[in-house]
Amino acid sequence: MNVDVAVVGGGPAGLAAALAAKEAGAPRVLVLERDFELGGILQQCVHDGFGLLRFGERLPGPAYMQRYIDALAQTDVQVLTDSMVLELTPERILYVASPAAGLLAVQAGAVVLAMGCRERTRNQIWLPGTRPAGIFTAGAVQRYINMEGILPGRRVVILGSGDVGLIMARRLTLEGAEVEGVYEVMPQPGGLTRNIVQCLEDYNIPLHLSHTVVDIHGEKRLTGVTVAQVGPDRRPVPGTERYIPCDTLVLSVGLIPENELSRGAGVELHPVTGGPVVDESMATGLPGVFAAGNAVAVFDLVDYVSATGEVAGRSAARYAAGELRDGPALAVQPGANVSFVLPQRLHPERVHAGVAFYLRVKESKERAQVVVRAGGEVVKTLLQVVVRPPEMISFTLTASELARAGAADLVVSVE
Ligand SMILES: Cc1cc2nc3c(=O)[nH]c(=O)nc-3n(C[C@H](O)[C@H](O)[C@H](O)COP(=O)(O)OP(=O)(O)OC[C@H]3O[C@@H](n4cnc5c(N)ncnc54)[C@H](O)[C@@H]3O)c2cc1C
Repeated sequence: MNVDVAVVGGGPAGLAAALAAKEAGAPRVLVLERDFELGGILQQCVHDGFGLLRFGERLPGPAYMQRYIDALAQTDVQVLTDSMVLELTPERILYVASPAAGLLAVQAGAVVLAMGCRERTRNQIWLPGTRPAGIFTAGAVQRYINMEGILPGRRVVILGSGDVGLIMARRLTLEGAEVEGVYEVMPQPGGLTRNIVQCLEDYNIPLHLSHTVVDIHGEKRLTGVTVAQVGPDRRPVPGTERYIPCDTLVLSVGLIPENELSRGAGVELHPVTGGPVVDESMATGLPGVFAAGNAVAVFDLVDYVSATGEVAGRSAARYAAGELRDGPALAVQPGANVSFVLPQRLHPERVHAGVAFYLRVKESKERAQVVVRAGGEVVKTLLQVVVRPPEMISFTLTASELARAGAADLVVSVE
């Protein structure tokens, strides 16, 4: 099969990319989704709050996605669900397995990687103790409750204060389970402030900072966990251990961009984001391969995910039509108090309207300012009331601001 643009993943990033590629004139656009339906992880996020920037409304996840699914149905974009992409080659051949089509080879003019992210599991955080049933990632619990109608337990401890865990603390409480508390190894919460307030404080669920689980108890089913306070070195403080009887432990300990395909194809991955290094058109270092959404970095607003999908889709269509070729790029570097900034490379001559930047800070700060410098000269400053690591910052650099940068690399800091 030959297509102009192949999109891997039918979540918010993938569908925005497919629609944008079509609108930009790509004749044959194909979406490949391993699940049996489109929508990605948002299909299980039934709480509202999605789409405030994009639609000016607080939509539940499935409603946000339905707008894209409906828009896609008005086009001739081809969709293959139940189709898992197993491999991508540097020549942009995708090998796809599907029960309906068997093993398929797709030659694409351009590819958009939009595989989303996955959750860190027990193995990745070295949880000691026995291995009983009853230990779930927050996403698995979300799927059980919201899509399968199954309550996974009655008395729950949550480890990690990532957003999905906070949202599930509220959901489990509303479904009649008792959430004993949320335990976070860091001295500050990992999730958004609004989720701390709306999901924990409003339901009197205690948040224990600088705490972790140090032992798991139970043979067939979890019977309890031991928690302990940790010191500044994040090691348990002897004598602070406490046993909590529970039948369920929910892990909300981080998300990892899904990039086995990218790695296999030789796409350069960034050590901090875990996703491809991208330029302003969401192009990776591999010619004709673009990336978007949580496969690039974990975003906290789906609106940003959709925006990156649109950029990637439009750019992929232009590449497939022979209009976009790689050339020398400026580097965009994280400066003081910035853990990462996207894009990491920039072609100033390609920026006409402006380019969106996304960054995360390392440490919280009040009355901060985002400062963009080129060759030591300030190109832009942006005031922020408060900055926190869980809350992504986004801003746009206009073409005229960029012109001031000349040919110098950009450094973005938060001071
Ligand atoms: C468990 C979980 C819960 C979340 N809950 C929230 C929330 O409540 N609120 C919020 O704002 N954000 C939430 N997020 C963040 C959420 O991921 C983003 O808001 C958004 O869904 C990311 O969009 P995406 O298109 O990049 O990825 P996804 O929505 O994850 O879509 C990626 C798609 O790619 C498909 N795919 C992956 N690999 C392949 C392959 N090899 N072949 C074919 N298809 C493939 C997947 O099946 C999936 O459908 C959650 C994330 C996770 C992991």
